Amino acid sequence: MTIGNIPKEIRRKTSMRAYLPLGYLPTTKLKQENNQAKRKRLTTNLYHACLRHILEPLVAAGNDGVFMSTATGDVHRAHPILACFIGDYPEQVLTACTLTGDCPRCGTTTDNLGNFDRDDVPAPHSHGEFLDVLGSFHRDPAGFLQASSRIRVKPVPHPFWLDLPRFNIFRSITPDVLHQLYQGIIKYLKAWILSAGEPTEIDARCRRLPPNHNIRLFTKGISSLSRVTGHEHDQICRFLLGLIIDIRLPNNMSNIRFIRSARALLDFLYLAQYPIHSNSTLHLLMDALSRFHANRDIFVNLGIRSQFNLPKLHYMSHYVELIKYFGTTDNFNTQYTERLHIDLIKDAYAATNHKDEYEQMATWSDRKERVLRHEQYIRWRLAGACTPTHVDREPPNLDTRWELSMTKHPSVTAVRLDRLQDLYGAPLFKVALRRFISTTNDGNQSRQQLEHSLWRIRLPFTRLPVWHVIKFTRSDPLLTGTRSTADSIHVQPARYDKRKRLIPGRFDTALINDGTGTEYGIKGESECHY
Ligand SMILES: [Zn+2]
Repeated sequence: MTIGNIPKEIRRKTSMRAYLPLGYLPTTKLKQENNQAKRKRLTTNLYHACLRHILEPLVAAGNDGVFMSTATGDVHRAHPILACFIGDYPEQVLTACTLTGDCPRCGTTTDNLGNFDRDDVPAPHSHGEFLDVLGSFHRDPAGFLQASSRIRVKPVPHPFWLDLPRFNIFRSITPDVLHQLYQGIIKYLKAWILSAGEPTEIDARCRRLPPNHNIRLFTKGISSLSRVTGHEHDQICRFLLGLIIDIRLPNNMSNIRFIRSARALLDFLYLAQYPIHSNSTLHLLMDALSRFHANRDIFVNLGIRSQFNLPKLHYMSHYVELIKYFGTTDNFNTQYTERLHIDLIKDAYAATNHKDEYEQMATWSDRKERVLRHEQYIRWRLAGACTPTHVDREPPNLDTRWELSMTKHPSVTAVRLDRLQDLYGAPLFKVALRRFISTTNDGNQSRQQLEHSLWRIRLPFTRLPVWHVIKFTRSDPLLTGTRSTADSIHVQPARYDKRKRLIPGRFDTALINDGTGTEYGIKGESECHY
């Protein structure tokens, strides 16, 4: 559990412990029950019974209020309510009591999940209708079963959220970037790309990616990866469009719709993760989804898919509304809670003697919490604070400017120009430099004039200093006052490895704004080879 009024910069750092474990749920499969349907019903009811027990204090607290003190010592009556539910698709279905395959939010049935109309996104399931059906359980058990199946919900007589004040489960299921986008949509897209193109060609393109600061290299390609993590999918997304930009489709089919679909999904992925939204960015988000749906038939034409009835794809149409309700998606990414499985469950289990572990795990977790709280208290007192003070927390840093960071002295003080060409694998360095000087002096020359002018340019030096690394730093959006590396440019001279094999020199390509460039895009940028 976490509470809503913690700034998200704190919440998303697991070390800040903004999430607390409320309890451990039994993992029993109830194998003693042989009837499979009954076993499923029992497991569902058990889950709801456990959560109902855990959340019971919220019923009275939400209805009548509880007294809570603020950091300044003022006491207020607060009404804590359950606001959001974060979980993956099976957990969402289990919690909302809807049928597997349907949308847990709006109840769109499996066969209709592929329909999309940006101006008519289905409204959430009717909470009132659901409560009416649940209410009939004691009066008319047989009618209850029929009514449940009529509105396509599981006949769970007492879901845990039934008595929680002001809680509507169908409005409260949050978007989930990790499971819905990275491990869902992007996983599909990767598979579609590999079925449309030649996997060996796609893998060969992965290998051509030069080493760089921001993207992991998949030197074995992406077709043979198994059990790809969300983090790996994130890395793959960064070059996925580059892999397919001139992809050849079977039967010489035009690749335009293919690339548009892939781009639309990637646009959606990145827009959905904006830390701040405005009406126009939300409009762009819906726009990206519309572009995918407008171009998606290419996958049908290619024989890769016959329909798009995918719950995760459908749920993307609810993102705009949910972001308006609950804020940006980084507020409730399951990545953070998945991480807590290690801290709060695996570590806790490891600390037990593996017999009657639940009680020991709970005690371990409780003690750890107390030690941490005490430690924080001591630190606060040592810092000289005697009365609680109000802390002005700055909003996340939006300063995206990059600063150049270089060593004062070059890596090599003077390298002869011809040596530079051989050593760093840049045989056209001198010509390129002359061309740059000539176009800087006179930008209106014809191509022929430019080529002639090259021979008149004399370089007034024979040696140049060389820097092997240039870094660009930016202020860290999470930690005020610190800077992190945003990107870097590397050159490496030819060298021999341990087995005396020659590794050729290499250099990165960078685009430099010569003063006429725009803030975004590459218009006006000159190409420079370091
Ligand atoms: Zn829906």
